[in-house]
Amino acid sequence: KATTAQELVEQARSQGVVMADLKFVDVPGLWQHFHVPIDELSSKSLAEGFGFDGSSIRGFQAIHESDMLLVPDLSTAFIDPFYQHPTLSLICEVRDPVSGQAYDRDPRHIARRAEAYLKATGIADVSYWGPEAEFFILDSARFDQNQHSGYYFIDSAEGFWNSGRDGTPNPGYRPRYKEGYFPVPPTDTVADVRAEIALTLEHVGVGVEVHHHEVATAGQAEVDLRFDSLTRMGDRVMLLKYVAKNVARKYGKTVTFMPKPIYGDNGSGMHTHQSLWKEGNNLFCDPSGYAGLSELARYYIGGLLHHGRALAAFCSPTTNSYKRLVPGFEAPVNLVYSKRNRSAAVRIPMYSQEPKAKRIEYRPPDPSANPYLAFAAMLMAGLDGIENRIDPGEPLDKDIYSLTPAELLALRSLPASLDEALEALRDDHQFLLKGGVFTRDFIDLWIDYKKQREVLAVGTRPHPWEFVLYFDV
Ligand code: GLN
Ligand code: MG
Ligand code: MG
Ligand code: MG
Repeated sequence: KATTAQELVEQARSQGVVMADLKFVDVPGLWQHFHVPIDELSSKSLAEGFGFDGSSIRGFQAIHESDMLLVPDLSTAFIDPFYQHPTLSLICEVRDPVSGQAYDRDPRHIARRAEAYLKATGIADVSYWGPEAEFFILDSARFDQNQHSGYYFIDSAEGFWNSGRDGTPNPGYRPRYKEGYFPVPPTDTVADVRAEIALTLEHVGVGVEVHHHEVATAGQAEVDLRFDSLTRMGDRVMLLKYVAKNVARKYGKTVTFMPKPIYGDNGSGMHTHQSLWKEGNNLFCDPSGYAGLSELARYYIGGLLHHGRALAAFCSPTTNSYKRLVPGFEAPVNLVYSKRNRSAAVRIPMYSQEPKAKRIEYRPPDPSANPYLAFAAMLMAGLDGIENRIDPGEPLDKDIYSLTPAELLALRSLPASLDEALEALRDDHQFLLKGGVFTRDFIDLWIDYKKQREVLAVGTRPHPWEFVLYFDV
């Protein structure tokens, strides 16, 4: 592991590296990149940054002030497994060349500011994050075929998305809807793809705890990353998406992290485990508390639930997210907490009673989120709960899907649409502005971008199912 720029460049050269790939995240959460030959890397260039046109990046600069700089974070260096020529990848932050300051709209920088704010409060030194990303590994050929058929996404009980191991459609060993968790091969057709995703991640320094088929029919996968601090985990989620998509492509498959690609079956979530630590102690643990949780953890939950509707704008940030957040598919709908209960927004895992394992799981997020923004926003909501001693009320230890309508009415619920979530964020975002973590400009940008480019774009287009319902009116 290199510590200085010079060491890094020397090491890379000695390993035959000829290119550097500079990666950074745009506002919605997709990695962008460009290459520079290794000769362009020096202590000077790495400190000063590399120029690019910020006006072409979603959510960034206006055309008349488009010059931006990328400054690599040397601690993120890895040899990129997906290029033909040996390439060193570096995750970068964006800098404004005029002010010389970090760029306010850089999501990775928002994550860094959230970590700095946590320290500044004195509440804890570090937060740990453990996301469980779910996604679909689909057969490319079938995917294209379905797209061209005009009915973009599958809506039928046959759901023949994925072919069998011999490449032919394999209805005999296809998991029925909601029964993908988790028979062995030949029913599990993508175990090798998942294994290669996990091994490739390990190879680039990302610890994996488990990978398995998920509940939905053929191809739904889950890969769980070993916990890490906030910005680093943001980087790791970006790497997971990058590796999953590129490994799948080698197998003639395609990966999607969209939360609900298949009607009538489970969607893809990104449940996020989190805890706060100070001087090596887990602040969430108190063996005498409910489910082994401390009072501080209960207030943190209070903050997540209290701000849950606004949080949805970052944790479930696509129009498709709200097709996942409906009853009956192990996704949460109500803003309540419980131990073990998978229908609550906050679950307290009870697998282990070890103090270091005590954590809470927030279940609304899905993998269409920009992880830097989602993690930063959750941390700010939890901290607001601690600072204002927000009581989360009584836990709800029953199956929420089976409550009567009257019982349900008494519970607060997540927004039903992206538009509702954005309105909730408009009404409730003071907790995000604390310590300058999110700027008002960024909140406005997010609401405006999502409304114009997604809510309106989807809402004003005739939907395939409208033809089924209304063509013969
Ligand atoms: N896929 C479910 C969701 O959308 C979760 C399934 C599970 O992990 N038990 O959140
Ligand atoms: Mg899991
Ligand atoms: Mg899961
Ligand atoms: Mg989970």
